Formats: sequence, structure tokens, C-alpha cells
Amino acid sequence: MHPAALVPVPLPLSTQFRFDPVVLPFGCDWPSPLWGEWLNTHAKVFMPFTKLGLSGALLRAVADQGYTVPTPIQTQAIPAVLAGGDLLAGAQTGTGKTAGFVLPMLQRLSSKPSPHANGARKPLRALIVTPTRELAAQVEMSVRTYGKHLHLTSTAVFGGVGLGPQTSQLRHGVDILVATPGRLLDHQHQRNVDLSRVEILVLDEADRMLDMGFLPDIKRILALLPKERQNLLFSATFSDEIKALADKLLDRPQTIEVAPRNSTVDAIAQRVHLVSRDQKSRLLAWLIRHHDWRQVLVFTRTKHGADKVVRSLNADGIGAVAMHGNKSQGQRTKALADFKRGSVEVMVATDIAARGIDIDELPHVVNYDLPNVPHDYVHRIGRTGRAGADGEAISLMCVDEHAFLRDIERLIKRTIRVEVVPGFEPDPNEIPQKVFAQRGRGQGQGQRQGTGRGNGGGQSKSGRGGNGSTKRPSPKQGQKRGNGYGRSNDRFASRGFDR
Ligand code: AMP
Repeated sequence: MHPAALVPVPLPLSTQFRFDPVVLPFGCDWPSPLWGEWLNTHAKVFMPFTKLGLSGALLRAVADQGYTVPTPIQTQAIPAVLAGGDLLAGAQTGTGKTAGFVLPMLQRLSSKPSPHANGARKPLRALIVTPTRELAAQVEMSVRTYGKHLHLTSTAVFGGVGLGPQTSQLRHGVDILVATPGRLLDHQHQRNVDLSRVEILVLDEADRMLDMGFLPDIKRILALLPKERQNLLFSATFSDEIKALADKLLDRPQTIEVAPRNSTVDAIAQRVHLVSRDQKSRLLAWLIRHHDWRQVLVFTRTKHGADKVVRSLNADGIGAVAMHGNKSQGQRTKALADFKRGSVEVMVATDIAARGIDIDELPHVVNYDLPNVPHDYVHRIGRTGRAGADGEAISLMCVDEHAFLRDIERLIKRTIRVEVVPGFEPDPNEIPQKVFAQRGRGQGQGQRQGTGRGNGGGQSKSGRGGNGSTKRPSPKQGQKRGNGYGRSNDRFASRGFDR
């Protein structure tokens, strides 16, 4: 029996809400990953959308989506954002955090008319900064979805596509802009966008933005914003850098954390399969066939590795596409669409390319390589088990990667079951090889793949230096490039840092 069924539910005295055990929470399809902590939060979990202070237009949009109860992050974030103060929110991927900030943001904006004079360009009132193109596009889609009964306008700007259409949208004027940092600065440089009247700033997946070396760009963006504004900072994990950013950015923020720091979603079954280095592709194909997996997201450490896995799966008759920074935006969009539609079973992605992808009920994530940055593990496996669905995360570990597993276990504060699949026993005489030097935070990562600063690179005419160099940069230069001064440098990336 579910633990929820055994425990009498005390009604939250402070609300008028009548608990209906048939409808909530048993009837809802969402909070299963949170059962572990539901006892602590049940009063909030049971709060219906109607009690959160949202307008009828937003409640209709939520109902149109088929949401029955707000997720815990929504229950806490929505009233906090509506109150107008700053917010520091720790939320894992897939917890519904986007609606947690988009809904109250839409409400706040729509409750005041846009302060623009007749004939003048609409001022930009809300800015959402995200680390990747995919996330920017996805968040903007949420803005449209939840705002469909309102009259606010929005657009997304990110790299990898031409500046032209984005420029005309921006010059026309929008209320809400979702942007990746590099491309936003390119538009700002060309005076396509004026950030001086932004009322609400959201930094989404802030930890990832810092990991990708976006801090200098973020600082530049902050300097262009008005002093008086509401700041919302969302992060799945909390590092010292995030805390430092929060200290600088936020004014007496309300702090919300819906899951223990750096923990992984409870609903995800995690396993590690020990295997020889050169048997990984055979094991992957076997797992897919044996379990009859229909939708699997596979992560590799490098772009080259992703292409190799795709070739090997295709050779085995398994439909697979690659998703990484060497692919054009068009190719990436198509790969994701094919994968979501189910016309290919497997998408093989590098970390940054896959960031922010939301695929309903994605059942399986495979780490073909264990990530050498432990936070990436949390993000990778967060692609499954989203919004209450069960998920499975399997990691293929060879003799080279034991230290990575230790780092991951330390971060998530749990031990992951390690198993050998019969027929794929690792060679006991295999000698460990160095994968490559552990990268430092913000060092030589991110934008080389083209999802980050490459976002702003593309068709940029801003000429902010360094784009055309063919010299391999020193690690320090690499960091500088990654931090926003130049186009992705894939020659450097192909050394193995090509995430
Ligand atoms: P997010 O963490 O914002 O990327 O959301 C993850 C997924 O949860 C998305 O597919 C949302 O559509 C879905 N979702 C968000 N809020 C709810 C809710 N209250 N009930 C059910 N699903 C939700």
C-alpha cells in the first residue's frame, strides 16, 4: 500500500481548502518522485492551483494542459513570485519549475498595463536567461502556452540561427524575452533590444550557465538592467559560485528547495553496468534489444563519441541520431523532433546539447560514458523521471571511469548499484587509461560545442573578437573564448573536451 494511504492527513488550518482524498493526491499523476518527502510538504502538495492566487486566465491555461495539482516547486514559487520579492529556488529538472516562474511572472505583467507611449516600441518587461538554445525555445513555448489567454507577447533569441528574424521581432517590441546569454549580448550590442526597463529577471538553470562559462556574460547583462527589479534564480545544484552569484544578485530572497541538494530524483532507478571499454557499444545494443527499449537518450562525453555510437547502433539496425554542437540548429531540431515522434529509438547526445530537453515520459537514459563532472550526472539522469513518471538511468562503466563514479556517489550521497550483465563481463586484465584531465569549472568547456557562446557566434556582426583564430588556444585562452569572446573552437574541442 502506498504510504500516503496509511497516514491520516491533517488539514492545513490556514487554508479553506477541503481535502478530497479521491482527487488529491492519489488521482494525480504527478508527485510520485516526491513521496519520500511528502509527509513534510503534504499541506503544500495538496494545495490546488486555485489557491495560489493565479488569475482565471492562467488557471484556464493550466487546466488546458491537464495539470491537476501544482508541483511542490510551483506551490512554493508561485505565491513567492506573486508577492514581488526575489527568489532563490533549488529545483531539479522535471519538477515543473518552468511553470513555477512563468505563471506568476505572466500574472504580474498582465496585472499592470505595459508602460509604453502610443507609437513607441513596447518596452521589454521580463527577461529569462537560459543556458542553451533548446531550453530557451522550450521556455518560450511555455510562456506562450501558459499565456495563451493573455495579451502579452514573447520571443526567444539564441544562436545557431540567423539574427534577422530575431532582430525584427525585437525591434517590433515584446513583453517577454527568453534568451541565451551570448545572443542576447549580440542583440544588445546592435541596439536591437533595450534592457533598461526590465521588471523581472529570471536566471534559469543558473548552475549550468556558470558551468558553461557564462558568468562574464551574465555580469554584462546584469549591468544593463535597471536596479529596481525582481530577480528569480533557479538552479538544480548549489555550488559556491552559485551562492556568490545569488549574494550579488538577490535582495533578501525567499529561498525554496524542493529536493535535497544535489540529490537525484527518487523515481529514477539507477544502475551501473561494469563492462570492458570496447564492449560498451555491443552492450548498449544488447540492452536496447533485450529490453525492447523504444525511446532511449544516450549520453557520451564527446561529439566524436556520439557519432561513433550512432554509427554502431545503425550498423546493428537500431535507429539512432546524434545531437551535439557540430550539428546545425536545423539538424538538432530535426533530430529532437524525430526522437520525440518515435521515428528513431535512440538519441545520442553530448551534455550541453541535451540540456533542457523536455521529453514527456522519457523512460531510459544511458550514460555511455560516465560524466567526469559529477553535476552532469544529475542533469543527465534528470531527463528521465520527469513530472512523476518512473525512469531508469543506466551507466556503462569501464575500468577508466571508477573515479568518476566515486565523485558522483559523493555528490548525490548515495551508492549506485553496480552489476555485470552476463555475457559482458569486463576483462579483469584491462589496464585503466586516463580519460582526460578533469576539467575545472568554467574551464575550457561549454561554448566550444556551439550551444553556448556559439549561440551568439553564428551570424553575429558584433565583432567581439577572436572568432576566426585557427591557433589552438591555451587553456586560459580557451576559457576566455568559452566565456564569451569568440566563436566555438572545435579544433580545440576535438581534443576530447568537446561536450
Ligand atoms: P519543467 O521542470 O518545468 O521542465 O517541467 C517538466 C514537465 O512537467 C513538463 O513536461 C511540464 O509540462 C510538466 N508539468 C509542469 N507542471 C505540471 C503539473 N502541475 N502537473 C503535471 N505536469 C506538470
